[in-house]
Amino acid sequence: MHTLKIKDLTVSVENKTILKNFNLEIKSGEIHAIMGPNGTGKSTLSKVIMGDSNYKVEKGNIYFDDKEINNMPTDERARLGLFLGYQMPPEIEGVSNADFLRAAIHNKDENFKLYDFIKKINTNVEQLSMDKQMIHRGINEGFSGGERKKNEILQMYMLEPNTIILDEIDSGLDVDSLRVVGENVMKYYEKEKPAILLITHYQRLLDYIKPDYVHIMKEGAIVKTGDKNLVSEIEKYGYDDKKLGTNVVEEN
Ligand code: ADP
Ligand code: MG
Repeated sequence: MHTLKIKDLTVSVENKTILKNFNLEIKSGEIHAIMGPNGTGKSTLSKVIMGDSNYKVEKGNIYFDDKEINNMPTDERARLGLFLGYQMPPEIEGVSNADFLRAAIHNKDENFKLYDFIKKINTNVEQLSMDKQMIHRGINEGFSGGERKKNEILQMYMLEPNTIILDEIDSGLDVDSLRVVGENVMKYYEKEKPAILLITHYQRLLDYIKPDYVHIMKEGAIVKTGDKNLVSEIEKYGYDDKKLGTNVVEEN
């Protein structure tokens, strides 16, 4: 059982304050969705949780299992079991997917055998309906938007995190890939019972991955929390909190 807790977090980038007194707590077995307009700080939140040094914590704390991790390097956070599927997965030339994943797994478990690695990657590539060649290509090199997103889910399966952030994992996916990604995230969830934080704009992903909590984020903070019924209201009314219904819980 793990807990990721974000307490009164204020974060700036290039002297601009993005997150403002942000609060959130997610536990193993819980699925949280964050929805909110563009530019509100959702990707900033996900990157600061992973320890991206471009983002400066001005105030507040990030705790993993009650240990403050504000200054912990990204690779140590990954070793704790934190994982981020990027909104825009970067292309890294010259490092193959297989080499990268092998190194990442070794970072967590140096006794992981090559034979087991090959078996595991082949099984997962097949399960995700990915092209086998992709294992040997440079990370995301020449991958389409949808292939990149699947590659993030492949990384998730290979690294077996306990706390997962998926930043707009649905963007750039056609309906079939969306189903494959949605179903595979749920399959992983049912097996490992991780904590999941989903950042999305659309109901369609949440038809596969059913959130326990839905948060609306605006201007760097959560302004409303509800259950999955909040999603259909957002689809209907947008993010105008005056129009959003009464079955919502005020945060704070
Ligand atoms: P969202 O994911 O909700 O659309 P982001 O977290 O990507 O929002 O961005 C929030 C704000 O922070 C935006 O105004 C964006 O331009 C700014 N921002 C995010 N990252 C950087 C960065 N590395 N450098 C400069 N500005 C950034
Ligand atoms: Mg974003």
